[in-house]
Amino acid sequence: MVFMIDNKTINQIKEKALNSNIPIITDSGINYLMRYIKKNKIKKILEIGTAVGYSAIKMCSVDDDIFVTSIERDEKRYLEAIKNIKSVNLDNRITLIYKDALDVKLSEKYDLIFIDAAKAQSIKFFEKFSVNLVNHGTIVTDNMNFHGLVQKKEEEISSRNLRQLVRKVKNYKDFLVNNNDYDTEFLEVGDGLAISIKK
Ligand code: SAH
Ligand code: MG
Repeated sequence: MVFMIDNKTINQIKEKALNSNIPIITDSGINYLMRYIKKNKIKKILEIGTAVGYSAIKMCSVDDDIFVTSIERDEKRYLEAIKNIKSVNLDNRITLIYKDALDVKLSEKYDLIFIDAAKAQSIKFFEKFSVNLVNHGTIVTDNMNFHGLVQKKEEEISSRNLRQLVRKVKNYKDFLVNNNDYDTEFLEVGDGLAISIKK
């Protein structure tokens, strides 16, 4: 039996995040991820980039024996995430770590790692946490289209800072394509998901 999580509360968390310009995952992105978790019987998840806990709560809600560990470096968001996770009674299944992910060292293994933090650091996150992935586990990366900017011509992006970030996302894409330890598929779901399965 799946323990029911109050959908009204989850929707309030989502609306509040959207109104505060917190970049939570899109509906189609999270729906895909939830189906993937169910189909592949994923039980242990590591998330890089909690924000206010929205995606962690949704992933955890797929089944009542799913456990999520999630890392966030922004204090305000971390505190809000703690509050949100308590409000849906998931504090026994979601563990939050308030730290820069690049300074976190974990010894446990996870069935799925969801990378959704600073887009310029994706290669570092992938390399650092791949040792925490089970054999044949999956690394999912969000925002592979970087809010649609990856498909644009460079000269169409006026900010130098943004152009550099877009280049980093493209580098990360090349890194995934050329990584022979993983089979990666790029999906046009939400803001673009990369699904990398360890061989
Ligand atoms: N996964 C969330 C959204 C995360 S937004 C959801 O879909 O609901 C990205 C978050 O990553 C931001 O809150 C940002 O503070 C955090 N972040 C960025 N770089 C980080 C790092 N190096 N370590 C920890 N958190 C980081
Ligand atoms: Mg995202």
